[in-house]
Amino acid sequence: MFGNKYKFYNPIKQNKAHILALNKQLGIKLSNFIPIIAFSNGADLRVNTTYNIIYTTQINRLIKEYTDIKFQENDIQKLYEKISSLNIVSSEARKQHISEVRNIIATKEQMIQQGICPRCGHNLVFRSGKYGDFFGCSNYPKCRFTQPIEK
Ligand SMILES: [Zn+2]
Repeated sequence: MFGNKYKFYNPIKQNKAHILALNKQLGIKLSNFIPIIAFSNGADLRVNTTYNIIYTTQINRLIKEYTDIKFQENDIQKLYEKISSLNIVSSEARKQHISEVRNIIATKEQMIQQGICPRCGHNLVFRSGKYGDFFGCSNYPKCRFTQPIEK
């Protein structure tokens, strides 16, 4: 019943879409991109992935870890100008995007409260793990959604 009703904002998918868009617009090879997903502090970042998923406060430090020179100063300036010219999003569009993301988060929280997995629509089940109690998806291992239970 809930199967495909809700489309969830998946940060990794979003990131891939953003990179593809930049690849197209800027003509930079995909192999030259380093994906980084940054969340504001307070987000729960218990994720199992090889992706760079960090807090916004860690962005600078992480970027500085990559020291391979891929672009010359000249190219960087051109890329910067190109990106700036592309980034003219109306404040209306920006507001709408923010409110959509908020709605998705609210819907997700509601589903969890009702015991429904927001990722696949199966029931959530209570589980006790090594690192504490959590709700896990009854569709595990197909769906690996978990929600830690706050003490
Ligand atoms: Zn699930």
